[in-house]
Amino acid sequence: MAITELLSSVLATGALGLPMGLAQANLPGTQIAVDSPARKGWVMYTVQPGDTLSQIARRYRVDARAIMYSSSLEGVALRPGQVLRIPLVEEANDESRLPPGVRAYIVRRGDTVQSVASRFDLTVLGLVSANPGLPSLDRLEVGSTLYIPTGEPGLLVRIKQGETIKDVASRFGLSVIQVARANELNSPTDVQAGDLVLLPGVQARNTYDRLLQIREAERKAREAEERRLAQERRVREEARQRQLAEQRRLEQQARSRQQQQAQSQPRLRRANAVVAAAGYRWPMSRFTITTYFGQRGVFQRFHTGIDLAAPTGTPIYAARAGQVGTAGWSRFGYGLHVIVGHGGAKETLYAHMSRILVRPGQWVERGDLLGHVGSTGWSTGPHLHFEVRVGGTPRNPLAFLP
Ligand SMILES: [Zn+2]
Repeated sequence: MAITELLSSVLATGALGLPMGLAQANLPGTQIAVDSPARKGWVMYTVQPGDTLSQIARRYRVDARAIMYSSSLEGVALRPGQVLRIPLVEEANDESRLPPGVRAYIVRRGDTVQSVASRFDLTVLGLVSANPGLPSLDRLEVGSTLYIPTGEPGLLVRIKQGETIKDVASRFGLSVIQVARANELNSPTDVQAGDLVLLPGVQARNTYDRLLQIREAERKAREAEERRLAQERRVREEARQRQLAEQRRLEQQARSRQQQQAQSQPRLRRANAVVAAAGYRWPMSRFTITTYFGQRGVFQRFHTGIDLAAPTGTPIYAARAGQVGTAGWSRFGYGLHVIVGHGGAKETLYAHMSRILVRPGQWVERGDLLGHVGSTGWSTGPHLHFEVRVGGTPRNPLAFLP
């Protein structure tokens, strides 16, 4: 019979007095009254109405997770009549004999199976073999006891009632002498039921494999959960990207609409752009350009200036310092208009005014008030028709203005 099979039978019988979670058969000491203080073994407990898992765990001084594990529970919910398998753990002041090559170690916060194993220069399998009841490779309960082989590693088992060293040794294919030597026993009678015995060289391969399977199952569950979360994130991110793209598309649409409007509509100029450092300034502070130089207008085939729309009464300023040449009514459609000479054959003309405030021959500085916006002469609405002439020829005012 192979050692691993033998070990399985030991584990299945719960001979080690620790949670196994294996076959249900042959559980020793399964019927222990609730109130009698059992120290180790199993209790089969029938759930009563009103019981909760944590209450039961407290009553037996075991970890609720150990009950869940050993009873194969999937959650903490219990139903009356359900039978729980409660693993009773040894208490810390265990008086049972420890083999000389084994010491007890109380698990501290932050310990892992791996860290404890390497601290005592053991393999994980070596540590598991000394603690075949370990429920998980990834979680250690703080305050629980781990057995550490300090000499030769091996499987640590607890002697059952009526069992001898010879029984245990032969079950694992060892001689009594080997077991006696490893445990420094003078006589087989040195060992009593409940004592721990180290079986040198025997490894809890099955237990270890089972723990590895649990770890693998947990890892897979974690990975599946991570994949699910990643998928959720991906879906959210895709939705966000779609939203952003749609937003960009709408913004782009709005921008091109604005550009089209800006191209088809007159420009709006603001006061702060009106005054240039030198030369010409805009003749008004706020206006809308409705007709450009050279465009075909209502009254002119070739527009000789620019039209600046503004409400009637808006002040009109001299675009540049100079002398007022003309200030009055025009026969050619300009209505009330002013012409200022700037020297060098340069003139500016201001037409369709509602009111003129300067007289011919008067000197004006750049920015001086000339009059107000109106709609006199050939005009369809209040605006300033503004011309720049060089040597009597109209030029595009935009070439002179800031
Ligand atoms: Zn005009």
